[in-house]
Amino acid sequence: MDMFFEPSGDWRLHMEDDLMIDIPFNKDFSEQMERTGNGEYPSCIICGRGIRVPRRMVHVHDGFASLVSEQEAQELNASGHEGADMGMWPIGSDCLKLHPELKPYVQEQGRIKANDWKALYADFYRQVYGESASDEEVMRDAQKRFELVK
Ligand SMILES: [Zn+2]
Repeated sequence: MDMFFEPSGDWRLHMEDDLMIDIPFNKDFSEQMERTGNGEYPSCIICGRGIRVPRRMVHVHDGFASLVSEQEAQELNASGHEGADMGMWPIGSDCLKLHPELKPYVQEQGRIKANDWKALYADFYRQVYGESASDEEVMRDAQKRFELVK
């Protein structure tokens, strides 16, 4: 068992026996895929709808049967199953709401939430300028820096 950092900002315990999870495909997957762009946009791995700007991705493995964590993907690939690694696929927010059990497998793309970013910046600032810096002082400094790099 070891610890890893989730893009959501939570530390999670990752168990050795954590198993990959079956993909709960929507029965209309192919139909929806054809109706919504037919491959022009990457398809939601659950329902097949094309997603113009994918935000949440999942690692598909086991020849399109399962979702895995990055650690599971590495372990599987290292033990000779890299041919079954189907790479990263988007998952739509509606489908994720219907299947909350898939949440641990979701990787947020790129964007960092404003509040997470503020907390990070405040941490760095206080390490450099001291613990007594107020939130206002930290944000004034951040804004000044943004003006400089604009
Ligand atoms: Zn979907």
